[in-house]
Amino acid sequence: MKNGVVIVGAGHAGVQAAASLREEGYDGPVTLVGDEAELPYHKPPLSKTFIKDPAAQPQMLRADVFYSNNRIDLRPGTMVERIDLGGRRLDLVGGDHIPFDAAILATGSRPRELKLAGAELGGVLSLRSVADARLIRELSATTGDVVVLGGGFIGLEIAATLRLGGRNVTVVEAQERLLGRAVAPAISAHVRHRLESTGVRVLTQTTIQRLEGGNGHVTAAILSTGERLPAQMVIVGIGVVPNVELAQTAGLTLSNGIRVDGSLRSSQPEILAIGDAANYRHLFSGTDVRLESVQNATDQARLAARTILGHEGRYDSVPWFWSDIGDMKLQMVGLAGASDSTVVVGDMADNKFSVYHYGGNRLIAIESVNRPADHMLGRKMLGAGFSPHPETVTAGADALKAAFAASQKSAAA
Ligand code: FAD
Repeated sequence: MKNGVVIVGAGHAGVQAAASLREEGYDGPVTLVGDEAELPYHKPPLSKTFIKDPAAQPQMLRADVFYSNNRIDLRPGTMVERIDLGGRRLDLVGGDHIPFDAAILATGSRPRELKLAGAELGGVLSLRSVADARLIRELSATTGDVVVLGGGFIGLEIAATLRLGGRNVTVVEAQERLLGRAVAPAISAHVRHRLESTGVRVLTQTTIQRLEGGNGHVTAAILSTGERLPAQMVIVGIGVVPNVELAQTAGLTLSNGIRVDGSLRSSQPEILAIGDAANYRHLFSGTDVRLESVQNATDQARLAARTILGHEGRYDSVPWFWSDIGDMKLQMVGLAGASDSTVVVGDMADNKFSVYHYGGNRLIAIESVNRPADHMLGRKMLGAGFSPHPETVTAGADALKAAFAASQKSAAA
């Protein structure tokens, strides 16, 4: 492979793909192109620690010497405009080109745009990059009233953080409950209760109809209920859309993301796609998914490197995710979409409990609040395909650990 591998997008997936190519022994050229100006950094802290600490700096994914030591040609601040499939090269904004033998699209996703009157006003912000986080941090220092539109993970993390910093925060969510697409009703209710107990106002089944402003800056949100909420800052957290434009203009197959097979190849075999931008049939659930998590991005990156080097393999990692909302560490493992019954263990009043999801007789997901041991054991159990009886789960952690250990022992025998 004379021209080597080029990776588009220097986020969690792209950086891991470059690292994995070298770890797997690939010796040819590796080029990592990212449109952000900074060295690649961790995204999760942006909505958790970064926005509350004026002195916080972005946490680098790898030290700057990592790229030179590993002969990774990192090109920050560089936007890829087009994939020239016939010429096997990338066309960059500005006129340069990068030839390739194989390409990995790790272009991630971007916040879904808010489409309503006043959305263009100053102070209406979303959070994806460190540049966005700096804006939120600066503005929140002088802001009394914040409206967060969208009760998903990022919106709630920001709401909890800004409330701790003394802002008046209202969360406006269109659905019946917070985190409705992501967690069990018991967890939604608990998160709502904890947020409200810190003074966050939570409005469900409510939307913003328009935003009002003065001198180009937002001053209020007018709700579907007719209420007028004063707001000097509106955080828009209404989900993300995958960055598929490069793939689209190159004619690759799309389906809520860039469609890839089990080894992460797109419809054009020399082009792979990974991370937030990739859609695939998950072996674990048998459904088509596009997951937005660090685990998914980095595990797919490892497999993509192996695929390019000719190893056979199918992406079969058990998905997991975490979120810190105020004093709640939420950890999820598995996919709960097919859940038809749940078992709850632990103590909600103590802010420590887990919900075990079953699809038929099979354990398919575990969602934990401040119970990291449940989460870690869950990752092992689901990874091994072990499905404990619900009575074993309710019997307590020791019984569950013993049952899992026994199953592993008999599997090994
Ligand atoms: P990204 O990390 O977004 O990287 C994609 C990169 O590609 C971006 O830098 C983008 O600008 C660049 N790019 C796109 N198009 C081009 C182009 N044409 N040319 C050049 N560059 C391009 N996940 C968790 O598991 N736990 C968490 O707690 C958590 N918290 C989060 C908090 C925040 C604020 C955010 C934004 C995300 C969070 N996530 C969390 C999600 C996680 O960060 C993403 O799933 C992960 O970053 C996906 O990695 P990726 O490489 O696919 O995309």
